[in-house]
Amino acid sequence: MALLEINHLQKSFGSLNVLKDINLQVEEGQVIAVIGPSGSGKSTMLRCATTLEQADAGDIYYDGEPLIHMVNGEAVRADKQQLKKIRSFFGLVFQDYNLFPHFTVMRNITEAPVHVAGVSKEKAEERALQLLATMGLSGKENYYPSQLSGGQQQRVAIARALVKRPRILLLDEPLSNLDARLRLQTREEIRRIQRETGITTVFVTHDQEEAMSISDQIVVMKSGLVQQIGRPQDVYDDPVNLFVAKFLGTPPINVFEGRIENGQLWIGQAAVLPAPAAQPQKVYVGIRPEGFIPDPEGPLECRVHAVEVMGRDTSVVCSHDAASAQIRAIIDAENKISGKTVRFRLRPAKVDAFHIETEERIALS
Ligand code: ADP
Ligand code: MG
Repeated sequence: MALLEINHLQKSFGSLNVLKDINLQVEEGQVIAVIGPSGSGKSTMLRCATTLEQADAGDIYYDGEPLIHMVNGEAVRADKQQLKKIRSFFGLVFQDYNLFPHFTVMRNITEAPVHVAGVSKEKAEERALQLLATMGLSGKENYYPSQLSGGQQQRVAIARALVKRPRILLLDEPLSNLDARLRLQTREEIRRIQRETGITTVFVTHDQEEAMSISDQIVVMKSGLVQQIGRPQDVYDDPVNLFVAKFLGTPPINVFEGRIENGQLWIGQAAVLPAPAAQPQKVYVGIRPEGFIPDPEGPLECRVHAVEVMGRDTSVVCSHDAASAQIRAIIDAENKISGKTVRFRLRPAKVDAFHIETEERIALS
């Protein structure tokens, strides 16, 4: 049984259909990143799962305990007793920390366990000190939030979420209020804390790099629907549609107009890859920056605009009439690009074709 299971979750605000049909299973010990553009419903999903918002329909189970579930088409909701139990399952961390400014670090962490959950002050403080050590914040227990950096405050918020020993930690964009340096540092801290505690974690972010670096599984959302769930590398290499392909990767995937004809994938007059499994049709061709290999005999010729040497790799900025935007190819620095044009052959694993209307991926071979 999954630790958290969400089936066909729906939520509207008035006529705004924010969650259309969300399905998600979180297994014990996993780190799951939920990503998607702003407004895609990530926070609403988390808020529904943590009783801050009431879902309209669907099932939410914590280890089999229903927060909401459908019986003969009617939503049955948890009663007071069940709610109490469900709330003990999760710890929640927000983007803006929500620490009490006039409480010390220690009191911020122990307030809820002592005054809500009835844990003894002694026990709560003992746990808090342990957590602060895990967070790298030993000795800060009598500080006030304003005396800490943003990254430290966020770690206090995580300690506060963990002090009640939840089975699942839910974080809504916990790094977005931090500057770039602290963000990276705190991201690594969160990953370390997760490894040390082994706690099941659901992490919401709009930053795909953050998601790829921290998670076992990523869930890509768009307009209230889950587009794809999978291991970061699998979703990156085998996106189900053009949206997912474009959402993942820096620099982003390069998109060309192309077609399938005579069992080949064409861009303009160039047959770039065999495509024996695909029907003749117009397609979008997505090529990852690392999918280009310079080759004087290669089929795809591009105009070179700039060559940026970045140590081990070289980034070639170029253009092609079939691509509406500039193309960025990342190639091995050993390749010297000098002329006005460059020819490439392509790595098949880094190339995907997409249906011109549905934008769904088309298998080439
Ligand atoms: P995300 O976290 O992915 O950015 P949200 O879940 O916050 O997205 O919001 C999804 C959509 O729901 C947005 O269009 C937002 O304006 C709307 N929304 C969120 N909360 C409310 C609310 N309480 N009342 C009305 N609309 C809301
Ligand atoms: Mg949000």
